Amino acid sequence: MSGLSAGVRLAHFGKKVVILERHYRVGGLNSFYRSGGYDLDVGLHAVTNYSPDGPKSAPMARLLRRLRMTMSDLELYPQKVSRIVFPDATLEFTNDFNHLANQAGKVFPGQEENLRKLKDEVYRLYANNFSGAPKSARQFASSFITAPDLVEMLMCPVMFYGSAWENDMEGGQFALLFMSLYCEGFARPKNGIRPILDLLVERYKNSGGEMRLRSGVQRIEVLKGKAACVVLDNGDTIECEAVLSSAGLMETIEICPEARPPDLAPEAGSMSFVESINIIDRPADELGLDASITFFSANRKFRYRRSDLPVDVQSGVICVPGNFCYDEPPDTHMVRITNIADPKFWEGADKAGYEKGKVEWRDKSLEVVETIVPKFVDNVTYFDMFTPRTIKKFTGHINGAVYGSPTKLGDGQTPVENVFICGTDQGYLGVVGSMISGVEIANQRLL
Ligand SMILES: Cc1cc2nc3c(=O)[nH]c(=O)nc-3n(C[C@H](O)[C@H](O)[C@H](O)COP(=O)(O)OP(=O)(O)OC[C@H]3O[C@@H](n4cnc5c(N)ncnc54)[C@H](O)[C@@H]3O)c2cc1C
Repeated sequence: MSGLSAGVRLAHFGKKVVILERHYRVGGLNSFYRSGGYDLDVGLHAVTNYSPDGPKSAPMARLLRRLRMTMSDLELYPQKVSRIVFPDATLEFTNDFNHLANQAGKVFPGQEENLRKLKDEVYRLYANNFSGAPKSARQFASSFITAPDLVEMLMCPVMFYGSAWENDMEGGQFALLFMSLYCEGFARPKNGIRPILDLLVERYKNSGGEMRLRSGVQRIEVLKGKAACVVLDNGDTIECEAVLSSAGLMETIEICPEARPPDLAPEAGSMSFVESINIIDRPADELGLDASITFFSANRKFRYRRSDLPVDVQSGVICVPGNFCYDEPPDTHMVRITNIADPKFWEGADKAGYEKGKVEWRDKSLEVVETIVPKFVDNVTYFDMFTPRTIKKFTGHINGAVYGSPTKLGDGQTPVENVFICGTDQGYLGVVGSMISGVEIANQRLL
């Protein structure tokens, strides 16, 4: 998404751009595939930062302006309600922050005002480009919220939707995601990510951009501190004035060792996930699953770290794509369940162990999920699961790390004068975040 968005922006300004994608399909972490006769999204639960009536300075409004698009181009439908379910408390949130604040006040007496103050600080940081943001999200949240259980609950969706760190996250990233999730909220395109990808590709090509699929970059050749050309997997060479890489920081270093920032000691991320996609025979709300997205933890202290087991079933995300406020109900009904996973297990398993692991761990995951939401397993007509191995195979991300390296390159500049990083490892996360990153780095570095 970041590469495509950067491409659209550069092509609009008449730059000669070629997008090189190793996969046969665009979208990366946010693509789709066909299985069992269904188009299944890989990444998208919901588009965050939905603020149709927000100010011009809101991230989504700024992004759309820069892509010369409007909100209606994306055909988004808002969420109904989402929940955070912990052993001793449940919180609901919608696209209106007041709902969450009121809920928090009811469940944790005295905390409503604290949560509102935290929100004000988040917006103050946003207005100042997150300069001076606290180092630790937990400390940041705890400096306003005095109920530790509420801090755990607030961290859960935010970390699931964007933390490359284990146990904690960087304060600025927390602030950005807090705003995206709790203040601006969720929406979904009725037919998944594909129409948005098609739209971006169409805009890109109509503006003169060139797209080459099945064209992996094997290495970036550097001469006298500057990238001179890229060499593709098939041996072809393309000369370039600049390279904008959305492959990830460590992944870019693998194809261009000169791009390693000497002062940052970057490392590969290891936070990856499995997701089971369960097609059911009727709308989920008929079975009592009424939330758009449910984030849960079976422990009061939310555990967000690489799993010691193939799958950590003690926490997760349950997404019901049908539970958004569409004009007409979708034809396919599904429940998607995301859990933290151990990349080493899934990458190391042989074929039989891999397939067996999928069934075994999906069943274990469901045992916990069905203590959180009503039972739906008897209504499942088809299921598929993707793992860290799938993510690595189709996006190249080391360890299948969805949120990339814990080290972010905020200004996008690598030590190679004309090689830049955009997307997740520049520091903006999720669909909207990665698109913003592509556009911003294109603007700052190449226009
Ligand atoms: C299970 C899951 C659920 C998610 N849910 C949500 C959600 O609900 N909402 C949300 O906002 N976000 C969600 N995300 C996150 C979102 O998908 C990502 O943050 C975003 O797509 C990242 O985009 P990117 O451009 O930074 O990177 P990528 O999508 O990784 O793009 C990088 C591209 O570069 C290509 N590439 C890599 N190496 C090479 C090479 N050497 N040569 C050529 N091409 C190469 C890859 O194939 C890929 O297409 C989810 C992700 C997953 C996996």
